Order: sequence, then structure tokens, then C-alpha cells
Amino acid sequence: MFADVLLPVPLPGLFTYAVPPTLVSIAQAGYRVQVPFGTKKSATGLIVRCHREPPADPKVVVKDITEVLDTEPVVLPAQYELWHWIAEYYMCAIGEVFKAAMPGKLKKSATSIALSPILQGISDLTPPPPLSPAQQTALTGIHEAWQRHPVCLLHGVTSSGKTELYIHLIAEALERGEQVLYLLPEIVLTTQLTDRLKAVFGDRLGVYHSKFNDKDRAEVWMRQLSAQPYDIIVGVRSSIFLPFQRLGLVIVDEEHEVNFKQQDPAPRYNARNVAIMMASRAGARTVLGTATPSFESYFNARTGKYGLVTLTERFGQVQLPDVEIIDVKELRRKRLMQGPFSPQLLEAMRTALEAGEQIILFQNRRGFAPQVQCHICGWVPRCPHCDVPLTLHKRSGRMTCHYCGYTTEIPQQCPACENPDLRGHGYGTERIEDELQRLFPHAHIARMDLDTTRTRTAYEQILEDFATGKTNILVGTQMVTKGLDFEHVSIVGILSADTMLNQPDFRAYERAFQMMSQVAGRAGRRHQRGRVLLQTMEPQLPIIHQVVTNDFHTMYQELMAERREFSYPPFTHFVMMYFKHRSADIIEALSRDAALRLRAVFGSRLLGPDEPPIARIGGMHIRRLIIKMEPTLSLSKARQFLIQTRADLLAEHFYGSANIYFDVDPL
Ligand code: ADP
Ligand code: ZN
Ligand code: ZN
Repeated sequence: MFADVLLPVPLPGLFTYAVPPTLVSIAQAGYRVQVPFGTKKSATGLIVRCHREPPADPKVVVKDITEVLDTEPVVLPAQYELWHWIAEYYMCAIGEVFKAAMPGKLKKSATSIALSPILQGISDLTPPPPLSPAQQTALTGIHEAWQRHPVCLLHGVTSSGKTELYIHLIAEALERGEQVLYLLPEIVLTTQLTDRLKAVFGDRLGVYHSKFNDKDRAEVWMRQLSAQPYDIIVGVRSSIFLPFQRLGLVIVDEEHEVNFKQQDPAPRYNARNVAIMMASRAGARTVLGTATPSFESYFNARTGKYGLVTLTERFGQVQLPDVEIIDVKELRRKRLMQGPFSPQLLEAMRTALEAGEQIILFQNRRGFAPQVQCHICGWVPRCPHCDVPLTLHKRSGRMTCHYCGYTTEIPQQCPACENPDLRGHGYGTERIEDELQRLFPHAHIARMDLDTTRTRTAYEQILEDFATGKTNILVGTQMVTKGLDFEHVSIVGILSADTMLNQPDFRAYERAFQMMSQVAGRAGRRHQRGRVLLQTMEPQLPIIHQVVTNDFHTMYQELMAERREFSYPPFTHFVMMYFKHRSADIIEALSRDAALRLRAVFGSRLLGPDEPPIARIGGMHIRRLIIKMEPTLSLSKARQFLIQTRADLLAEHFYGSANIYFDVDPL
């Protein structure tokens, strides 16, 4: 007997092994096995199917499976089929999907994981609060939409009670005996949400994300296969890989978030889109919720592919925040800015602090200063491995590359002109925190960014201190823009809209609108109207006005006109082909050669080669090609041709050591 085995390696397809007579009775699809692979004596793989057909090529030596690790399947057929779809759609090896999907512990050894019993039943807990009339109408709307479309987009302004609606939808699904997957874009959000959900659903809720250790994740996985699985899984993108036995509802909260897309390594999947596919295969319903829909989802809703339900009022009739534009250019000219703060913002903060209210400040840059510059000769320390300046981190007394992690001491003097007074240029969250402490010495200030949230306890502490009022001011990167719900925030400050607007990306305005509206939505959620102070050098831009008036619709119409004109998504699908190599010459030749071959077939659909905004990372030069595919094009044929072209290129001796990969629907 033979077994086709999936291994966690970046090679296409499955590997055939012989099942020795002693193992024939215990080897089955879905079981893990130990097999020799390449130079390795032992690797853990997954049996996908057992059969009796020897390999077509008689020269192939078939090795034996050495051990069978399981007595029950650890991967369900539906999971494997979904992984297969992911590999095809996102143009990677299924071994890469397998590698990303399973907790490390389950990829290593035989595991017997003791599952602690679930104690509370749902009948023991505080029913969810009754819905407001507007929420009730939306709930009915979702049910009606589901009659015609399996996916419904819920476009509800911030604090309209989307989470309350999800709770009702979950309760209904549980009533029908179904399981629920609740996807969030960011770990930071899981804490608040699980508190809210646990109050209603108790122990029937499991949480799954990468800040839990491997053992905990393996336990969740095994529990989902058991006779008493969690009914609800709350998790970030990797939870789409978990086993579900009777999935009935998928909720994708903050569906517009870029974090749903995995950038590196492969599989470069979008968890929102995979979740929709997963739900459709399971016959489950999906709700995508957000205050600022992604253009892709809104387009799908408006063209009849998804249902659409809108909630235009905040819960309790609290007004949407009042957004004031602050013209930083003008204030600079009059020398009225105090570092990154306008007098208006400082005054608003002072008043709020005196009244015992809380403040959120958003600055989309971590570290102390985005770069160091000699103010005499202009020298800027740059990463030796990447085309970026180093970021100054004052707490650690070092300069760091945010792309490859390279770190070095701050030099005593400028190596070019020996000026001993090197200064940080610009404002990162660390520096904002310092300035605030100087201006408001009695205020308790906390910072939330990648540097302060390396562990689960660290970010939970930050959120708890802010929720309980221990902290007065929370400064942070895009992490503070997410769907957090705090009671006493009266002021939100957006320190600089410009860094967001000036990104070299056709989605820059869409993103900036999302981030600004989302962070604005943190203000004045429960009792009174909140205030948002939006600092910008370009107050005249329509996009700024649209944030002020919360006019998603006009913003969408205007930007979509551009997208249509240039055949950009969502009017086309993008496939990005990336090339990486240590040699600048080879990368030039390779990317041009690839373009030549592909242009013969794709014609004007092919753009490039060009350099991405950061054209060298970790010593590797990077080039890319963009293929714009219109909906009528056969995607599977186009994919085949792209994969063949990559194989042809890598077969050429000169390019052999290059790294070539695809990014489908890049964000
Ligand atoms: P969203 O997810 O749309 O931002 P939330 O669900 O977080 O909104 O609701 C905002 C706030 O209003 C929360 O504090 C929530 O508890 C409260 N809230 C919303 N709907 C209700 C309701 N029907 N009954 C009681 N409180 C509600
Ligand atoms: Zn100098
Ligand atoms: Zn670097």
C-alpha cells in the first residue's frame, strides 16, 4: 500500500511513500506520520490518501513510512480541501499552507493533549441586552439579505452596536447547534471582545492567536476535533486553519483591515476572503462588519454579490464626533506649533484632563524619531542592508531598521563632519510620549505600539489601565485606531494626517480615510459627543473634508472613478510577481527578462518591472511586476502560465539562486 503525504515544505504537490505491512492496518488519511525526507531522517507529514498505485516512473525509489502518530484524524477533509484552494488561489505550495496552518507542537511529535472539561453551560449566564429599534431593523435586514446572499456586509457607523448584533447572531447560531468563527484583525482587540462575549457565552468560547503559546494552540486544535468542541472561536487570521465540525456562521469584524492579509511568508492569504470561501464550502453564513468598508467589499455589495445592511446611528443616539481641521502649515508659519502639538490640541487636552476625561493620540510611527540627521552636513544613518534610514529608539539608546531588525549604537558624532550634536528628525510615538510628559507632568501616559506590546500581558495591561481610568492619555500607532470601546474618551488627536496621505500607493487615501474615521470613532462613545482634532498640512484636500463629514459615500465615488479609469482593483485583480536577489545586476536582468516573456502573453496587462518603495531589504534587491487581470480573463490559465514562467526562469543557470514568488490580491 502507498500513502500520499503532505509535508511542511515549499515544494509543489504531495510525496508518495510505501506503507510497510506492519503499519497498513493503522495508516489512514488525516493521520500524521514520520517519514524520511531528503537528507532528513525524519519529518512529520500528513497522510492525504492511501492507495495501491505505485509511482508511474519505475525508477523512483519509494521510501517507507517509519511511524504512524495518530489513532484519529487530526485534519478533517474540509480543512485539507480549503488548504488546497488556498495554495491554488494564492499561488504557493500546499506544504507552505500546511506549515502555516498547524501549531508547531502538532507538526513535531505524537501528542496526547488532555482537554480540560467545559464547565459552564450557556443556560447559566447574563442574556444579551435587548437591541435598540435601529439594531433590530438591522438584524432583520441581515436575515433577509442572507435569504439571497450567503455574505452580508454590515456597514454601521462606529459605536452603532455592531458587536451587540454579532452577539445576537451568535446566540441564534448556537441555538441551531452550529459553530461560529469570529475573526478579528488584531490581537489587541481580542481581549476586550472576549470579555464581552464570555459574559454571554461563558466557556463555550475559545480564543486562538499567536500570542498564546504553542501548547495552548495545539489544545484548541485538538478540542475542535473532539466530541465537545468550542462552539465559538474568536481569533485572528490563523484561526481559519482550525478544524470546524459544524460551522454555521462566520463573522469578520473590521473587515476592511489590511492585517487580514498575510504579507510574509507564504501563504500570502487574505483571511477575510478565505473565511468567506470556507463558509461557502460549509454552507455557512457570513457577516462582514465595519464602519469603513473596504472598496472590494462595498463594490461587491453594490453590484449585488453581497447583501448590504446599514446602521447610521450610534447606540443611545450619541452624536458622531465633531472633527475639527487644524492647519499645521499656517501654525508653523506663525510659529505657534509646540513640537508636534497645535495650541488647539493642547488646550483641548488640558480641559479634558481637568474634567477627568481621557485622550487618545494617534501617530502612525513608532520609535523616537523616524530618522537621525546631522543638521550641519545633512548626513543620515541608513541601514546597511536595506534602502531605509534607521529609526532612533531613545529608550534602548539605539538606532534600528524596521525592515530587517538591524540595530546599532547612536554615534557620538557625525562621521562625515564630526558634529557632536546629532538629532532625531520627526516624531515617533516614543518622542510624543516624552513631550507629553514634559507638558503634562501630572498626567499618566501610556504608549501602545509594536515595541510596548510584545507580550500578551503587556498589551492587556495597557488596555486595562486605560479602561479603568488609571491612564489619562493613550498614545499609539494604528493599534489605537482599531475597534476599541472606551467609556471616557472625550478627545482624539490625529497628529499628522500627511504621513498617511503621502504613501506611494493607490490605496493611500482609502486607508487614510479608514484610519482617521476609525480613530475618530473612539471619541465620545457612551455619554456625550466627542471631539477630534485633525492636524494636517493639507487642509484643503477633499479627503480631509470627507473625514470631517464622515462622508464615506462621496469618498468612495470619487476614488472609484480613478480606479475605473486606471483599471485598478476592485475592477481588476492584481497579481504581483516579486523577484529577490543579492546581485543588483542579476535582479535587473531577471526582472526584465521575466517582463519580456510575460508581456508576450499579457500585453498591456503587465506593468513593470519597477522597484517597490523599499527596493532592498536584508541585502536582497527587489523588483516586481504587476499583472492586472480583468474579471473575464481565465485566472486559472493565467496562473498556470505565470507558474510555468517562474519555473523556466529558475531553470536558467544565471538566475538559479533567485527568489521568485507571487502575491495575489496584494494590499
Ligand atoms: P460598534 O461595534 O458598532 O462600534 P459596540 O457594539 O461596541 O459598537 O457598541 C458601542 C457601545 O454601546 C458599547 O459599549 C455597547 O455595550 C453599547 N451598546 C450597543 N448596543 C447596545 C444595546 N442594545 N444595549 C446596551 N448597550 C449597547
Ligand atoms: Zn555632519
Ligand atoms: Zn535593514
